[in-house]
Amino acid sequence: MTLNPAEAVNLFFDEAADLVHLKDEFYDVLKSSYREIDVQVPVRMDNGDLAVFRGYRVQHNGARGPYKGGIRYHPSADLQEVRALASLMTWKTALLDIPFGGAKGGIAVDPTGMSNHEIEAMTRRFTNAISHVLGVNRDIPAPDVNTNAQVMAWMMDAFSARHGYSPAIVTGKPLDLGGAPGREAATGRGVVYVLEAAARQWGIDLGAVTVAIQGFGNVGSWAARTLHELGVMVVAVSDVKGGVYNPKGLDVPDLLHWAASRRSVVDAVDGGDIITNEEIIELDCDVLIPAALGEVIDRENADKVRARIVVEAANHPTTPIADKILGDRGVRVIPDILANAGGVTGSYFEWAQNIQQFKWKEDRFNAELKDAMELAFNAVAAFSEKRDVSMRRAAFAIGIERVAKAARMRGYV
Ligand code: NAD
Repeated sequence: MTLNPAEAVNLFFDEAADLVHLKDEFYDVLKSSYREIDVQVPVRMDNGDLAVFRGYRVQHNGARGPYKGGIRYHPSADLQEVRALASLMTWKTALLDIPFGGAKGGIAVDPTGMSNHEIEAMTRRFTNAISHVLGVNRDIPAPDVNTNAQVMAWMMDAFSARHGYSPAIVTGKPLDLGGAPGREAATGRGVVYVLEAAARQWGIDLGAVTVAIQGFGNVGSWAARTLHELGVMVVAVSDVKGGVYNPKGLDVPDLLHWAASRRSVVDAVDGGDIITNEEIIELDCDVLIPAALGEVIDRENADKVRARIVVEAANHPTTPIADKILGDRGVRVIPDILANAGGVTGSYFEWAQNIQQFKWKEDRFNAELKDAMELAFNAVAAFSEKRDVSMRRAAFAIGIERVAKAARMRGYV
């Protein structure tokens, strides 16, 4: 049976809720969204045609604070996907113990080939359509797949035009508009902080491992850069067009330079052997970091993964059946709600700075981020060992227990 993303995340929920003896009456509240918005986004394109896109914002649970979650522009964005990603945000923010609930948004659109003017018009239209459920203490969007600091600047401007100057309404903004130094790199850096903590816990010498990264956008490229700075060998990276592989190690700074001018890594001169996005998942390496889209490790390829450790930088990259296959084969999976939580943790730092109108230096940002990631990793590792369960079940269980407690104390249930 194939589960849609929302059903898959709820299966992970069920398996973990069992461990913390969640009362039956909590299940319906914690497994469904608080509010789901599905809006029309009409945009006058540069050629004069009117294009109509669908936009979504799902607020999953707000027991622990304002809703928080990214906005993605991608053809596969639909209510099921956004619902699943919103739910993951609830467990992630609780696991990191930051004062947010879970949300996600998206527009079903392929923005490649759209002009800046068209993307700006679409972003403003979408923001206006959902602005009645946004707010500095209500719901705070952030960047995700195919959205960036510029898109956040347009969202902030559209919201501020109606509600007054509100930099804290979005995170991941440009530095000149209240963005926090360190936020752009935070998800990728957080992935590496967690991998370092895992290596210490499991007695692995990172100086002797090889790493493959699927996805070379914000998260994948910052993870690659940080690993390279630490002297860890990155042997493969990929983007939507495919990947490059060199068993002796890639020239990461050169690939970063290449990607910065919107060129694919497969076109890089002397990049390495060209491989496909399917091949990178099955590559001979020690650590695999999926950092692109969801459900890339599934029942077809899970038994072909050769890495010993999978660090889920992308959201929901592993289907439940694949998760079981990997677990049975002894592959250690560091789950998305832990591995990529540096993004929302960095967003929390940015939001807090905006509210206080006080700027941190990047060193402080990175130090606080590292502390937060290590604390969460240690909590998950301890739970996982004590109860003899996977890191994913442990991470969900910790998040679920915290959200249930807050919901009960606030009198929701
Ligand atoms: P991005 O748009 O900056 O980069 C996405 C990358 O994936 C690009 O290199 C793109 O070429 C590649 N890609 C697209 N389609 C692909 C395909 N079919 N096969 C292989 N590669 C493909 O996005 P991002 O912000 O780096 O997000 C990547 C993942 O990390 C997503 O799953 C996102 O939800 C997750 N994430 C992002 C953040 C954040 O702060 N940006 C935080 C937490 C989690």
